[in-house]
Amino acid sequence: MKNKISLLLIAICCFSCNTKMEENLGQTLITKWPGDKQSAISITYDDGIINQFTVARPIMNKLGLPGTFYIITGKMKESGKGQFIGRPADEIIEETISSRTNADNFFERASMIAYTGTTEAVEYHSNAGSLFESGKITEAYELIDEGFEQLRNGKLKTTNDIVFHNNAVDTTTWAEYKKYAAEGHEIASHTVTHARLAVLDEANLLYELEQSKADIQHFLGEKYTFSAECPYGTENERVMEYAHKIYPALRNRMPEPYLEELNRSSKRHPTDSEKEYVQWQRGPLTNVSMDVMKSWVDTCMENDNIWLVLVFHGVNGIGWEPKSEAELEEYFNYINERKNELWVATFADVTKYIRERKDAVIHSEILKDAIAVTISSKLDPKVYDIPMTLKTYVPKAWKSVIQNNKSTQDSQLELKIQNDTLGHYVIYSVLSNEHEIILQELKE
Ligand SMILES: [Zn+2]
Repeated sequence: MKNKISLLLIAICCFSCNTKMEENLGQTLITKWPGDKQSAISITYDDGIINQFTVARPIMNKLGLPGTFYIITGKMKESGKGQFIGRPADEIIEETISSRTNADNFFERASMIAYTGTTEAVEYHSNAGSLFESGKITEAYELIDEGFEQLRNGKLKTTNDIVFHNNAVDTTTWAEYKKYAAEGHEIASHTVTHARLAVLDEANLLYELEQSKADIQHFLGEKYTFSAECPYGTENERVMEYAHKIYPALRNRMPEPYLEELNRSSKRHPTDSEKEYVQWQRGPLTNVSMDVMKSWVDTCMENDNIWLVLVFHGVNGIGWEPKSEAELEEYFNYINERKNELWVATFADVTKYIRERKDAVIHSEILKDAIAVTISSKLDPKVYDIPMTLKTYVPKAWKSVIQNNKSTQDSQLELKIQNDTLGHYVIYSVLSNEHEIILQELKE
Protein backbone atom coordinates (compact mmCIF):
# COMPACT_ATOMS: atom_id res chain seq x y z
CA MET A 1 0.00 0.00 0.00
CA LYS A 2 2.77 2.36 1.05
CA ASN A 3 4.59 1.55 -2.16
CA LYS A 4 1.52 2.29 -4.20
CA ILE A 5 1.08 5.71 -2.56
CA SER A 6 4.70 6.64 -3.13
CA LEU A 7 4.49 5.53 -6.74
CA LEU A 8 1.44 7.73 -7.17
CA LEU A 9 3.23 10.67 -5.54
CA ILE A 10 6.18 10.18 -7.86
CA ALA A 11 3.79 10.09 -10.82
CA ILE A 12 2.09 13.33 -9.75
CA CYS A 13 5.48 14.92 -9.09
CA CYS A 14 6.73 13.93 -12.52
CA PHE A 15 3.64 15.34 -14.16
CA SER A 16 3.98 18.65 -12.31
CA CYS A 17 7.76 18.72 -12.82
CA ASN A 18 7.10 18.37 -16.52
CA THR A 19 4.52 21.10 -16.20
CA LYS A 20 7.14 23.47 -14.86
CA MET A 21 9.52 22.62 -17.61
CA GLU A 22 6.92 22.92 -20.34
CA GLU A 23 5.80 26.51 -20.02
CA ASN A 24 3.04 26.33 -22.57
CA LEU A 25 1.51 23.12 -21.30
CA GLY A 26 -2.28 23.28 -21.45
CA GLN A 27 -2.24 26.58 -23.28
CA THR A 28 -5.20 26.59 -25.65
CA LEU A 29 -6.11 28.95 -28.43
CA ILE A 30 -8.63 29.08 -31.25
CA THR A 31 -6.75 29.12 -34.52
CA LYS A 32 -7.30 32.16 -36.73
CA TRP A 33 -8.89 30.00 -39.41
CA PRO A 34 -10.43 26.51 -39.29
CA GLY A 35 -7.93 23.67 -39.57
CA ASP A 36 -5.15 26.14 -38.70
CA LYS A 37 -5.13 27.23 -42.33
CA GLN A 38 -3.26 30.26 -43.59
CA SER A 39 -6.05 32.53 -44.90
CA ALA A 40 -9.63 32.45 -46.14
CA ILE A 41 -11.29 33.05 -49.50
CA SER A 42 -14.95 33.69 -50.26
CA ILE A 43 -16.06 33.51 -53.88
CA THR A 44 -19.09 35.76 -54.25
CA TYR A 45 -21.33 36.67 -57.18
CA ASP A 46 -23.78 39.54 -57.50
CA ASP A 47 -27.08 40.04 -59.33
CA GLY A 48 -28.20 36.41 -59.80
CA ILE A 49 -27.08 36.28 -63.43
CA ILE A 50 -28.08 33.01 -65.11
CA ASN A 51 -24.55 32.03 -66.27
CA GLN A 52 -23.26 32.20 -62.70
CA PHE A 53 -25.39 29.12 -62.06
CA THR A 54 -25.14 27.32 -65.38
CA VAL A 55 -21.45 27.99 -66.11
CA ALA A 56 -19.52 29.01 -62.95
CA ARG A 57 -21.41 26.85 -60.43
CA PRO A 58 -20.64 23.50 -62.16
CA ILE A 59 -16.90 24.32 -62.14
CA MET A 60 -17.08 25.06 -58.42
CA ASN A 61 -19.13 21.93 -57.73
CA LYS A 62 -16.58 19.76 -59.53
CA LEU A 63 -13.86 21.15 -57.24
CA GLY A 64 -15.99 21.21 -54.10
CA LEU A 65 -15.77 24.99 -53.71
CA PRO A 66 -18.76 26.71 -52.14
CA GLY A 67 -19.86 30.12 -53.43
CA THR A 68 -22.03 32.98 -52.21
CA PHE A 69 -24.64 34.25 -54.65
CA TYR A 70 -26.37 37.56 -53.90
CA ILE A 71 -29.63 37.38 -55.81
CA ILE A 72 -32.27 39.95 -56.75
CA THR A 73 -35.34 38.33 -55.25
CA GLY A 74 -37.94 40.33 -57.20
CA LYS A 75 -36.83 38.49 -60.35
CA MET A 76 -38.55 35.26 -59.30
CA LYS A 77 -42.22 34.86 -60.18
CA GLU A 78 -43.50 33.96 -56.73
CA SER A 79 -41.68 36.67 -54.76
CA GLY A 80 -42.65 40.17 -53.64
CA LYS A 81 -42.35 42.53 -56.60
CA GLY A 82 -40.69 45.88 -56.87
CA GLN A 83 -43.29 48.52 -56.04
CA PHE A 84 -43.50 52.08 -54.79
CA ILE A 85 -44.82 52.41 -51.27
CA GLY A 86 -46.21 55.86 -50.58
CA ARG A 87 -48.67 58.53 -51.69
CA PRO A 88 -50.45 58.24 -55.07
CA ALA A 89 -47.94 58.72 -57.90
CA ASP A 90 -50.13 61.34 -59.63
CA GLU A 91 -50.06 63.52 -56.54
CA ILE A 92 -46.26 63.43 -56.39
CA ILE A 93 -45.90 64.15 -60.12
CA GLU A 94 -48.36 67.05 -59.86
CA GLU A 95 -46.34 68.65 -57.07
CA THR A 96 -43.21 68.73 -59.21
CA ILE A 97 -44.83 71.41 -61.38
CA SER A 98 -44.72 73.95 -58.59
CA SER A 99 -41.90 72.74 -56.33
CA ARG A 100 -38.38 71.86 -57.28
CA THR A 101 -36.62 68.89 -55.75
CA ASN A 102 -35.04 69.66 -52.38
CA ALA A 103 -33.93 67.93 -49.19
CA ASP A 104 -37.55 67.51 -48.04
CA ASN A 105 -38.90 65.70 -51.10
CA PHE A 106 -35.81 64.17 -52.72
CA PHE A 107 -36.05 60.67 -51.19
CA GLU A 108 -39.75 60.35 -51.99
CA ARG A 109 -39.25 61.43 -55.61
CA ALA A 110 -36.08 59.37 -56.12
CA SER A 111 -38.00 56.39 -54.74
CA MET A 112 -41.12 56.87 -56.84
CA ILE A 113 -39.37 57.26 -60.18
CA ALA A 114 -37.55 53.94 -59.62
CA TYR A 115 -40.82 52.03 -59.80
CA THR A 116 -42.51 53.70 -62.79
CA GLY A 117 -41.64 50.78 -65.03
CA THR A 118 -39.13 51.86 -67.69
CA THR A 119 -35.39 51.43 -67.97
CA GLU A 120 -35.03 55.17 -68.62
CA ALA A 121 -36.83 56.06 -65.38
CA VAL A 122 -34.69 53.61 -63.41
CA GLU A 123 -31.63 55.32 -64.94
CA TYR A 124 -32.80 58.64 -63.45
CA HIS A 125 -33.17 56.97 -60.06
CA SER A 126 -29.85 55.19 -60.28
CA ASN A 127 -27.83 58.10 -61.65
CA ALA A 128 -29.31 60.48 -59.09
CA GLY A 129 -28.31 57.94 -56.46
CA SER A 130 -24.78 57.80 -57.79
CA LEU A 131 -24.50 61.62 -57.70
CA PHE A 132 -25.98 61.75 -54.21
CA GLU A 133 -23.55 59.14 -52.88
CA SER A 134 -20.59 60.99 -54.33
CA GLY A 135 -21.70 64.19 -52.59
CA LYS A 136 -23.10 65.96 -55.67
CA ILE A 137 -26.39 66.75 -53.98
CA THR A 138 -27.50 69.70 -56.17
CA GLU A 139 -26.82 67.73 -59.35
CA ALA A 140 -28.82 64.81 -57.93
CA TYR A 141 -31.82 67.12 -57.28
CA GLU A 142 -31.57 68.57 -60.80
CA LEU A 143 -31.54 65.12 -62.36
CA ILE A 144 -34.68 64.15 -60.46
CA ASP A 145 -36.34 67.39 -61.66
CA GLU A 146 -35.44 66.45 -65.23
CA GLY A 147 -36.84 62.93 -64.78
CA PHE A 148 -40.13 64.22 -63.44
CA GLU A 149 -40.41 66.74 -66.28
CA GLN A 150 -40.17 63.76 -68.65
CA LEU A 151 -42.86 61.95 -66.67
CA ARG A 152 -45.12 65.01 -66.88
CA ASN A 153 -44.69 65.57 -70.59
CA GLY A 154 -45.14 61.87 -71.41
CA LYS A 155 -41.61 61.26 -72.67
CA LEU A 156 -41.35 58.77 -69.81
CA LYS A 157 -44.38 56.51 -69.59
CA THR A 158 -45.63 54.88 -66.41
CA THR A 159 -46.00 51.14 -67.02
CA ASN A 160 -46.60 48.09 -64.89
CA ASP A 161 -43.28 46.56 -65.88
CA ILE A 162 -40.71 45.67 -63.29
CA VAL A 163 -37.26 46.89 -64.28
CA PHE A 164 -33.96 45.80 -62.80
CA HIS A 165 -31.21 48.31 -63.34
CA ASN A 166 -28.38 47.12 -65.57
CA ASN A 167 -29.57 43.56 -65.29
CA ALA A 168 -30.53 40.97 -67.84
CA VAL A 169 -33.74 39.03 -67.33
CA ASP A 170 -32.90 35.78 -65.60
CA THR A 171 -34.88 32.59 -65.44
CA THR A 172 -33.55 30.86 -62.33
CA THR A 173 -36.40 29.64 -60.11
CA TRP A 174 -36.70 29.34 -56.34
CA ALA A 175 -36.72 25.55 -56.72
CA GLU A 176 -33.36 25.75 -58.49
CA TYR A 177 -31.96 28.08 -55.82
CA LYS A 178 -33.04 25.59 -53.18
CA LYS A 179 -31.11 22.89 -54.99
CA TYR A 180 -28.01 25.10 -55.26
CA ALA A 181 -28.20 25.86 -51.54
CA ALA A 182 -28.39 22.12 -50.81
CA GLU A 183 -25.14 21.72 -52.79
CA GLY A 184 -23.44 23.90 -50.16
CA HIS A 185 -23.71 27.33 -51.74
CA GLU A 186 -24.95 30.41 -49.94
CA ILE A 187 -27.89 32.07 -51.70
CA ALA A 188 -28.46 35.47 -50.12
CA SER A 189 -30.14 38.82 -50.62
CA HIS A 190 -29.20 41.56 -53.06
CA THR A 191 -32.57 43.30 -52.40
CA VAL A 192 -35.85 43.08 -54.34
CA THR A 193 -35.03 45.25 -57.39
CA HIS A 194 -31.36 46.29 -57.09
CA ALA A 195 -32.28 49.83 -56.14
CA ARG A 196 -29.96 52.66 -55.06
CA LEU A 197 -30.88 52.30 -51.41
CA ALA A 198 -29.14 55.53 -50.39
CA VAL A 199 -31.83 57.59 -52.13
CA LEU A 200 -34.89 55.60 -51.08
CA ASP A 201 -37.16 56.95 -48.37
CA GLU A 202 -37.63 54.86 -45.25
CA ALA A 203 -40.69 52.88 -46.39
CA ASN A 204 -39.15 51.86 -49.71
CA LEU A 205 -35.71 51.20 -48.24
CA LEU A 206 -37.26 48.88 -45.64
CA TYR A 207 -39.37 47.12 -48.28
CA GLU A 208 -36.32 46.37 -50.47
CA LEU A 209 -34.49 44.87 -47.49
CA GLU A 210 -37.33 43.18 -45.60
CA GLN A 211 -39.33 41.74 -48.51
CA SER A 212 -36.18 40.24 -49.97
CA LYS A 213 -35.36 38.69 -46.62
CA ALA A 214 -38.91 37.37 -46.19
CA ASP A 215 -38.83 35.68 -49.61
CA ILE A 216 -35.44 34.07 -48.96
CA GLN A 217 -36.65 32.88 -45.57
CA HIS A 218 -39.81 31.45 -47.11
CA PHE A 219 -38.27 29.75 -50.14
CA LEU A 220 -34.82 28.77 -48.82
CA GLY A 221 -34.91 28.98 -45.02
CA GLU A 222 -33.64 31.12 -42.17
CA LYS A 223 -30.01 30.08 -42.69
CA TYR A 224 -29.82 32.13 -45.89
CA THR A 225 -30.90 35.37 -44.26
CA PHE A 226 -27.59 35.81 -42.44
CA SER A 227 -25.62 37.85 -44.95
CA ALA A 228 -26.67 40.32 -47.65
CA GLU A 229 -25.16 42.75 -50.13
CA CYS A 230 -26.79 46.12 -50.71
CA PRO A 231 -26.49 47.01 -54.43
CA TYR A 232 -23.65 49.08 -55.92
CA GLY A 233 -21.46 48.18 -52.94
CA THR A 234 -23.00 51.11 -51.07
CA GLU A 235 -21.40 52.14 -47.80
CA ASN A 236 -23.97 54.88 -47.15
CA GLU A 237 -24.28 55.19 -43.39
CA ARG A 238 -28.05 55.59 -43.31
CA VAL A 239 -28.46 52.44 -45.43
CA MET A 240 -25.97 50.52 -43.29
CA GLU A 241 -27.85 51.48 -40.15
CA TYR A 242 -31.14 50.09 -41.48
CA ALA A 243 -29.58 47.03 -43.12
CA HIS A 244 -27.57 45.98 -40.06
CA LYS A 245 -30.82 45.76 -38.08
CA ILE A 246 -32.20 43.31 -40.65
CA TYR A 247 -29.15 41.24 -41.66
CA PRO A 248 -26.45 40.07 -39.20
CA ALA A 249 -23.73 40.45 -41.86
CA LEU A 250 -23.25 42.73 -44.86
CA ARG A 251 -20.58 42.43 -47.49
CA ASN A 252 -20.80 46.23 -47.83
CA ARG A 253 -19.53 47.07 -44.34
CA MET A 254 -19.44 45.47 -40.93
CA PRO A 255 -17.17 47.56 -38.75
CA GLU A 256 -15.28 45.75 -36.00
CA PRO A 257 -12.16 46.95 -34.19
CA TYR A 258 -10.29 43.79 -35.18
CA LEU A 259 -11.30 43.85 -38.85
CA GLU A 260 -9.81 45.98 -41.61
CA GLU A 261 -12.22 46.38 -44.51
CA LEU A 262 -10.68 47.10 -47.88
CA ASN A 263 -13.37 47.49 -50.49
CA ARG A 264 -13.08 46.79 -54.20
CA SER A 265 -11.84 50.27 -55.03
CA SER A 266 -9.32 50.45 -52.19
CA LYS A 267 -5.73 50.96 -53.33
CA ARG A 268 -4.29 49.89 -49.98
CA HIS A 269 -2.43 46.62 -49.84
CA PRO A 270 -3.73 44.23 -47.17
CA THR A 271 -0.25 43.70 -45.75
CA ASP A 272 -0.19 47.39 -44.74
CA SER A 273 -2.78 46.68 -42.07
CA GLU A 274 -1.84 45.72 -38.53
CA LYS A 275 -5.31 44.40 -37.75
CA GLU A 276 -6.01 40.85 -36.77
CA TYR A 277 -8.18 40.26 -39.84
CA VAL A 278 -8.27 42.02 -43.19
CA GLN A 279 -11.31 41.56 -45.40
CA TRP A 280 -9.82 42.25 -48.80
CA GLN A 281 -12.43 42.65 -51.52
CA ARG A 282 -11.30 42.37 -55.11
CA GLY A 283 -13.42 42.61 -58.26
CA PRO A 284 -12.11 40.40 -61.08
CA LEU A 285 -13.43 42.66 -63.86
CA THR A 286 -13.17 41.70 -67.51
CA ASN A 287 -9.78 43.34 -68.04
CA VAL A 288 -8.14 42.09 -64.82
CA SER A 289 -5.43 39.64 -65.89
CA MET A 290 -5.07 36.08 -64.65
CA ASP A 291 -1.67 36.99 -63.19
CA VAL A 292 -3.18 39.72 -61.05
CA MET A 293 -6.01 37.45 -59.94
CA LYS A 294 -3.53 34.73 -58.98
CA SER A 295 -1.37 37.25 -57.11
CA TRP A 296 -4.31 37.91 -54.75
CA VAL A 297 -4.33 34.21 -53.87
CA ASP A 298 -0.53 34.25 -53.45
CA THR A 299 -0.89 37.13 -50.99
CA CYS A 300 -3.27 34.95 -48.96
CA MET A 301 -0.65 32.19 -48.91
CA GLU A 302 2.04 34.54 -47.61
CA ASN A 303 0.02 36.11 -44.77
CA ASP A 304 -2.18 34.72 -42.03
CA ASN A 305 -4.78 37.44 -41.56
CA ILE A 306 -6.33 37.84 -45.00
CA TRP A 307 -9.89 37.08 -45.98
CA LEU A 308 -9.97 37.53 -49.74
CA VAL A 309 -13.52 38.27 -50.87
CA LEU A 310 -13.82 37.95 -54.63
CA VAL A 311 -16.74 39.76 -56.24
CA PHE A 312 -17.80 38.38 -59.61
CA HIS A 313 -20.62 39.68 -61.79
CA GLY A 314 -21.04 38.59 -65.42
CA VAL A 315 -20.05 35.19 -66.77
CA ASN A 316 -19.50 34.21 -70.42
CA GLY A 317 -20.80 37.41 -71.95
CA ILE A 318 -23.91 37.83 -69.78
CA GLY A 319 -23.97 40.45 -67.01
CA TRP A 320 -21.72 43.33 -65.99
CA GLU A 321 -17.93 42.93 -66.54
CA PRO A 322 -18.06 39.26 -67.51
CA LYS A 323 -15.31 36.69 -67.10
CA SER A 324 -15.11 33.70 -69.43
CA GLU A 325 -15.65 30.07 -68.51
CA ALA A 326 -12.01 29.27 -69.37
CA GLU A 327 -10.76 32.00 -67.01
CA LEU A 328 -12.97 30.78 -64.17
CA GLU A 329 -11.85 27.20 -64.74
CA GLU A 330 -8.17 28.17 -64.57
CA TYR A 331 -8.62 30.46 -61.57
CA PHE A 332 -10.74 28.12 -59.49
CA ASN A 333 -8.27 25.31 -60.15
CA TYR A 334 -5.47 27.59 -58.94
CA ILE A 335 -7.38 28.22 -55.71
CA ASN A 336 -8.31 24.56 -55.35
CA GLU A 337 -4.69 23.43 -55.62
CA ARG A 338 -4.01 25.51 -52.50
CA LYS A 339 -6.99 24.28 -50.52
CA ASN A 340 -4.76 22.66 -47.87
CA GLU A 341 -3.57 26.15 -46.92
CA LEU A 342 -6.62 28.21 -47.79
CA TRP A 343 -10.07 27.97 -46.28
CA VAL A 344 -12.59 28.47 -49.08
CA ALA A 345 -15.98 29.19 -47.51
CA THR A 346 -19.12 31.22 -48.00
CA PHE A 347 -19.27 34.83 -46.84
CA ALA A 348 -21.64 33.83 -44.02
CA ASP A 349 -19.44 30.98 -42.77
CA VAL A 350 -16.26 33.08 -42.62
CA THR A 351 -18.12 35.86 -40.78
CA LYS A 352 -19.48 33.31 -38.31
CA TYR A 353 -16.09 31.71 -37.65
CA ILE A 354 -14.40 35.06 -36.98
CA ARG A 355 -17.20 36.16 -34.63
CA GLU A 356 -17.22 32.80 -32.81
CA ARG A 357 -13.48 33.00 -32.31
CA LYS A 358 -13.59 36.60 -31.07
CA ASP A 359 -16.48 35.90 -28.72
CA ALA A 360 -15.46 32.56 -27.20
CA VAL A 361 -13.75 32.39 -23.83
CA ILE A 362 -11.43 29.41 -23.45
CA HIS A 363 -10.18 28.12 -20.14
CA SER A 364 -7.89 25.16 -19.71
CA GLU A 365 -6.94 23.31 -16.59
CA ILE A 366 -4.21 20.75 -16.10
CA LEU A 367 -5.55 17.74 -14.22
CA LYS A 368 -3.60 14.76 -12.90
CA ASP A 369 -3.31 12.98 -16.22
CA ALA A 370 -5.48 15.05 -18.50
CA ILE A 371 -6.19 18.59 -19.70
CA ALA A 372 -9.72 19.95 -19.37
CA VAL A 373 -10.66 22.67 -21.83
CA THR A 374 -13.85 24.64 -21.29
CA ILE A 375 -15.40 26.95 -23.86
CA SER A 376 -18.14 29.51 -23.39
CA SER A 377 -19.82 31.85 -25.86
CA LYS A 378 -22.61 34.41 -25.83
CA LEU A 379 -23.52 33.77 -29.46
CA ASP A 380 -26.60 31.79 -30.45
CA PRO A 381 -25.33 28.25 -31.21
CA LYS A 382 -28.22 27.69 -33.63
CA VAL A 383 -26.87 30.46 -35.87
CA TYR A 384 -23.17 30.30 -35.04
CA ASP A 385 -22.65 26.66 -35.90
CA ILE A 386 -19.22 26.61 -37.54
CA PRO A 387 -16.86 24.28 -35.64
CA MET A 388 -13.94 26.14 -34.12
CA THR A 389 -10.44 24.75 -34.37
CA LEU A 390 -8.63 24.59 -31.03
CA LYS A 391 -4.92 24.12 -30.49
CA THR A 392 -3.77 22.81 -27.10
CA TYR A 393 -0.21 22.15 -25.93
CA VAL A 394 0.12 18.71 -24.35
CA PRO A 395 2.92 17.10 -22.29
CA LYS A 396 5.90 16.06 -24.35
CA ALA A 397 5.77 12.67 -22.66
CA TRP A 398 2.37 11.88 -24.13
CA LYS A 399 2.61 9.40 -26.96
CA SER A 400 -0.97 9.74 -28.15
CA VAL A 401 -3.97 11.89 -27.28
CA ILE A 402 -7.68 11.25 -27.23
CA GLN A 403 -10.36 13.91 -27.13
CA ASN A 404 -13.49 13.33 -25.05
CA ASN A 405 -16.40 15.70 -25.45
CA LYS A 406 -18.53 15.92 -22.30
CA SER A 407 -21.73 16.90 -24.12
CA THR A 408 -21.54 14.02 -26.57
CA GLN A 409 -20.76 11.10 -24.25
CA ASP A 410 -19.62 8.60 -26.80
CA SER A 411 -17.45 10.81 -28.95
CA GLN A 412 -13.79 9.91 -28.51
CA LEU A 413 -11.32 10.95 -31.11
CA GLU A 414 -7.66 10.13 -31.41
CA LEU A 415 -5.64 13.24 -32.23
CA LYS A 416 -2.35 13.58 -34.04
CA ILE A 417 0.46 15.11 -31.96
CA GLN A 418 2.33 17.86 -33.81
CA ASN A 419 5.04 20.21 -32.67
CA ASP A 420 6.29 23.74 -33.15
CA THR A 421 8.80 25.95 -31.31
CA LEU A 422 6.49 26.20 -28.28
CA GLY A 423 6.05 22.49 -27.76
CA HIS A 424 3.84 19.54 -28.60
CA TYR A 425 0.24 20.25 -29.48
CA VAL A 426 -2.96 18.80 -30.83
CA ILE A 427 -5.51 20.38 -33.14
CA TYR A 428 -9.18 19.53 -32.79
CA SER A 429 -12.52 20.99 -33.64
CA VAL A 430 -15.26 22.02 -31.24
CA LEU A 431 -18.68 23.63 -31.45
CA SER A 432 -19.21 26.65 -29.22
CA ASN A 433 -21.92 24.83 -27.25
CA GLU A 434 -19.80 21.77 -26.47
CA HIS A 435 -18.63 23.41 -23.22
CA GLU A 436 -16.01 20.93 -21.99
CA ILE A 437 -13.40 18.80 -23.70
CA ILE A 438 -11.00 16.43 -21.95
CA LEU A 439 -7.69 15.64 -23.59
CA GLN A 440 -6.00 12.51 -22.25
CA GLU A 441 -3.12 10.31 -23.09
CA LEU A 442 -4.41 7.18 -24.73
CA LYS A 443 -3.23 4.32 -22.55
CA GLU A 444 -2.68 0.92 -24.16
ZN1 LIG B 1 -25.45 44.31 -57.99
